[in-house]
Amino acid sequence: MTTCLMSLGANLGDRSRTLNAAIASLEQVDGIHVLAHSRWSETTPAGGPPHQADFLNGAARLETTLSPTALLDQLHQVENALGRRREVRWGARSIDLDLLLYDDVIVATPQLTVPHPRLAFRRFVLAPCLEIAPEWVHPLIGWSLEECFEHLQKTPRSIAVACCSAESANTVARLGAQQAGAFFIADPAVAGNWRDAENDLASAPRRATALADAAVEQTEWVSGFWLEPPFAAAPRPTFVVWLDEPFSDGNPSTPPEDTSVSGVDSSAPLRKYNRDLGRRVMQRGRGPWLQLPTADLTQAANEVAAALLAMRPQ
Ligand code: ATP
Ligand code: CA
Ligand code: CA
Repeated sequence: MTTCLMSLGANLGDRSRTLNAAIASLEQVDGIHVLAHSRWSETTPAGGPPHQADFLNGAARLETTLSPTALLDQLHQVENALGRRREVRWGARSIDLDLLLYDDVIVATPQLTVPHPRLAFRRFVLAPCLEIAPEWVHPLIGWSLEECFEHLQKTPRSIAVACCSAESANTVARLGAQQAGAFFIADPAVAGNWRDAENDLASAPRRATALADAAVEQTEWVSGFWLEPPFAAAPRPTFVVWLDEPFSDGNPSTPPEDTSVSGVDSSAPLRKYNRDLGRRVMQRGRGPWLQLPTADLTQAANEVAAALLAMRPQ
């Protein structure tokens, strides 16, 4: 038996009836037992096409003998039976059932990511979870869900975009901030496009000043850089978006590789910096993060904007 946490959401049709029907259908599935569910709370949509109706959101705690993928499959079957159509990303839906946590298991496949990657900074997901599982420790972040929610409550709403390419980080931060109506902090570091640890260190005081200045006047911001904590003078971001640069062929931001001299790959230090950056951002105990590929900067900016909306008090 494994204990799981899932989220429910609906903004089309008779929302509470559908959410109740989803719980009843899950209870009918062999290998699933619903232990508890939260109240259904009304929330405004965060992200996706504009002018959508408000959501009813909730969370449920289950006991299951099913594997994570088999459980996801059951969630999809219940969604389909309750009229879920998938047309536009983050579009209006009769029902959305997501698997948030499966004990402390970590899954990362193209079909399934557990813990749910947006769990720790979405108010509409965390708030109902607190009713039924406040003590559950997020296995990657190392904070309980209650701690994740408190962090949302007490930090000024802010996102730091970390990437080995300054241009990609600034672009995503600028577009995301613009879309959500938040303040954009450009990286004050003077450097070329590709970042390195030495330059990060030299730029830290200017970056800290830029963050501290913004914190005086702004309530919400996105920075095109991430200042690794602890840096005394600088306010911490609510969470970090790590743009992972895969350095794959065909990627427009792939740095030039110069193997002409003695077969040495000159992009090796950059690859290492990219890897280390990800490791530092995702370090357990530091707070929430979201890993995104650099391949689609517009999509990454949409994620930043939607995350800001999901962090705002209702
Ligand atoms: P979001 O993930 O941002 O909440 P969404 O719920 O609107 O977005 P969907 O269109 O419902 O996204 O799902 C897209 C795909 O996400 C599904 O087909 C599913 O395979 C995949 N997926 C990956 N991880 C999970 C998870 N933990 N729970 C549910 N679906 C997941
Ligand atoms: Ca969802
Ligand atoms: Ca979903």
